[in-house]
Amino acid sequence: MKRKPAANGSAARRRASTAIRRIDAPPRLPMRGHGLSDVEFRQKVPTVWWEPKLEYGWDAGEAIGRFLAGLKEGKIYGVRCRTCGRTVTPPRAFCELDFKPMDEWVTLPTTGTVNTFSVCYITWDMKPLRKPQIPAVIEIDGTTPRVGFLHLLGGVSGSTVEAVRKQVQVGMPVRAVWKPLREREGAITDILYFAPVKAKGRRA
Ligand SMILES: [Zn+2]
Repeated sequence: MKRKPAANGSAARRRASTAIRRIDAPPRLPMRGHGLSDVEFRQKVPTVWWEPKLEYGWDAGEAIGRFLAGLKEGKIYGVRCRTCGRTVTPPRAFCELDFKPMDEWVTLPTTGTVNTFSVCYITWDMKPLRKPQIPAVIEIDGTTPRVGFLHLLGGVSGSTVEAVRKQVQVGMPVRAVWKPLREREGAITDILYFAPVKAKGRRA
């Protein structure tokens, strides 16, 4: 029996690869372009210039939103966890220890104690200060210890560290000093600062 010639696929592939090799590479053309400055680009290339007016809003959320609204009224709100019993401010939606909702709201006193403080002769944006700022962590009365928030101490005279340290100590009682009611806007800065509470019959 005469053998039928097999479909010669390998020969076809060989021809195709030979054909590919025979194509000459395109001639190298010299690069004739040049860079454009920003001004040249605007003059020579059709462009559209559009400056969008975009406004952004930030939602403080239910817990902080209610806290900020309280500040506008001169109140410091906190929340209590029904599981572990902690009371914290600023309020939060859930307890970070047991992940249960913190939905029992309480009105706290506007007094507290100094947890820690610092004497700063430079602003957050690197401007020198002659009279220092005194950022401090304040633990609001009625809250669980060590859940205070950062604010400023004020009503302290003198500009040296020694003068400040004579008037400010960790654990000393302070009270919130508020902006006038008409100037409040529902912000943490509605409290201007916390001032030392001078005990009756005792020199502060
Ligand atoms: Zn809890």
